[in-house]
Amino acid sequence: MYQVNENYLKLPGSYLFSTIGKKVNAFAEANPDKEILRLGIGDVTQPLCPAVIEALHKAVDEMADPATFRGYAPDLGYDFLRNTIVEKDYKARGCDISPDEIFVSDGAKSDSGNIQEIFGACSKIAVCDPVYPVYVDSNVMAGRTGIYDAEAETWSDVIYMPTTKENGFVPEKPEKRPDLIYLCLPNNPTGTTLTKAQLQEWVDYANKEEAVIIFDAAYEAYIAEDDVPHSIYECDGARTCAIEIRSFSKNAGFTGLRLGFTVVPKDLKAGDVCLRDLWARRHGTKFNGAPYIVQRAGEAVYSPEGKAQTDEQIAYYMRNASVIRNGLLDAGYEVFGGINAPYIWMKTPDGMKSWDFFDHLLENANVVGTPGSGFGPSGEGYFRLTAFGTYENSVAALERIKAL
Ligand SMILES: *Cc1c(COP(=O)(O)O)cnc(C)c1O
Repeated sequence: MYQVNENYLKLPGSYLFSTIGKKVNAFAEANPDKEILRLGIGDVTQPLCPAVIEALHKAVDEMADPATFRGYAPDLGYDFLRNTIVEKDYKARGCDISPDEIFVSDGAKSDSGNIQEIFGACSKIAVCDPVYPVYVDSNVMAGRTGIYDAEAETWSDVIYMPTTKENGFVPEKPEKRPDLIYLCLPNNPTGTTLTKAQLQEWVDYANKEEAVIIFDAAYEAYIAEDDVPHSIYECDGARTCAIEIRSFSKNAGFTGLRLGFTVVPKDLKAGDVCLRDLWARRHGTKFNGAPYIVQRAGEAVYSPEGKAQTDEQIAYYMRNASVIRNGLLDAGYEVFGGINAPYIWMKTPDGMKSWDFFDHLLENANVVGTPGSGFGPSGEGYFRLTAFGTYENSVAALERIKAL
């Protein structure tokens, strides 16, 4: 009999969104007259902007003509996109990154799940708690996380760095030395972020401990405050310790189109092994390129029109964020995030459990959010609302929450 990868069997069920779905459906069936407002969605809702649509149409036409048809894309992505990324995302911010350090992909989820493959099986990972589940689960599949403690909801070989209101959502350097440190900033789910000085401390720590930071910057475009770095390469020394992952999903609505990229600097070395070359080999072997038309669409995000139009979409979501944030503050809740990210992370009232508050909000305000405990044990007692809905629904939801 063949054997399966037993590491997969260790994965606890991902109950969060399926449980939410079941509870919401049951409530809707029992209360057909109630209008449910969903502030739990982690997906964008606005359509692709005109500049992107135009680039897509043009690229589609090119695919119909033998003279301009494109087959397999280059392994690392088309030069037109990688050069644009270097100019607009890195050179413009004073970061020293070259096009051959950019790897275009089909999104940040794949890259953040796959990146662990180029590291040794015994590497110790450190994650924030609460956390985007991909980082831990992909390491579970690779057999790197030890034994699961269902009671504590933690893995024996994972180093957890709680981020709570007590430490201002700034992860503390762990007692045990990690090999890989996952940081997502601005953060999903907490909506909080670090200042440049705080991130610099992490870069210095990683260089000192000879660890690698895997920096998920999917929400970079939502940063509003000056002191918050858009790229980890704004920090001194990041070229020798950091990999950065970016996405077109949240800044330009590509969640259904699929495009992202990863930066692996040539200075990132384990002894004389260059991680960039390992990732190039992995990418070239297991990935055959993001579609030409999608890479053209990605290029259009950086054009003056594309930039103006996507900025407008981000401003729309961030107006929702301030409606939610200010509404909650007016109603007397303790609120975090929502300034440099489309997520609002609130403390549940009177020490209520996250799931109890979920039920309370669903039943009494007919508003759906996400229980913080679903993102990790330190998320207990917190609740996430997202700004990705419509303005009208955000306003209406907050009116109802204020009336509770
Ligand atoms: C949405 C999100 C991404 C983006 O993933 P894509 O695969 O590019 O759509 C990456 N990281 C985090 C933390 C996210 O919330």
